[in-house]
Amino acid sequence: MFATANAHHRAAPAGKSLTMQSHNVYIGLGSNLDNPTQQVIDGINALAALRETQLLATSSLYASAPIGPQDQPPFINAVALIKTALTPIALLDALQALEQDAGRVRKRHWGERTLDLDILLFGEQTIEHPRLKVPHPFMCERRFVLEPLLEVSPHAHLPNGTALSQVLPETLTQEIWHHCTLALDSLGSVAPQ
Ligand code: AMP
Repeated sequence: MFATANAHHRAAPAGKSLTMQSHNVYIGLGSNLDNPTQQVIDGINALAALRETQLLATSSLYASAPIGPQDQPPFINAVALIKTALTPIALLDALQALEQDAGRVRKRHWGERTLDLDILLFGEQTIEHPRLKVPHPFMCERRFVLEPLLEVSPHAHLPNGTALSQVLPETLTQEIWHHCTLALDSLGSVAPQ
């Protein structure tokens, strides 16, 4: 049974100001190796520590069955909303560095991973770059992305105006479970509530 949860939003933290042009960006996080709950929490805290970036909100943590090979542990997923002055490719570089810092292991396509960080939406931009496609190509097919994103922003939409709440029902046959709610403190760190 899916439990209703409340995403945590907060005002811009003290000590970080974004003077350049900045965008609201949704990041999808997932892990199914090496203490996945802690991996995702550490990932969210690492997003908060990125240069030129503020963590604005985070969803609860959700558990989901693997999409690819079934002989692997369930995933823990979350979506974070950040405000960043980084360019899309600079942000991708930063996320890939965080994945490496987490000791990223990728054993096979759609298989186990220590920490996966995806750019889901970047402001209202549509991006077709050899390294980066935004909106994320699979986000509308995955309940474990849509449900936490809508928890953070119930009115979120694609750059073409499609409301994500209209897309969600098509994914409801995929089972996900509410795992735990996160609390955001005044310094911008998250921890299980
Ligand atoms: P995966 O680890 O399966 O999520 O795929 C990582 C690869 O996807 C990297 O080579 C990225 O350059 C590429 N990629 C394309 N679009 C995105 C996106 N929106 N977010 C993250 N990685 C992306």
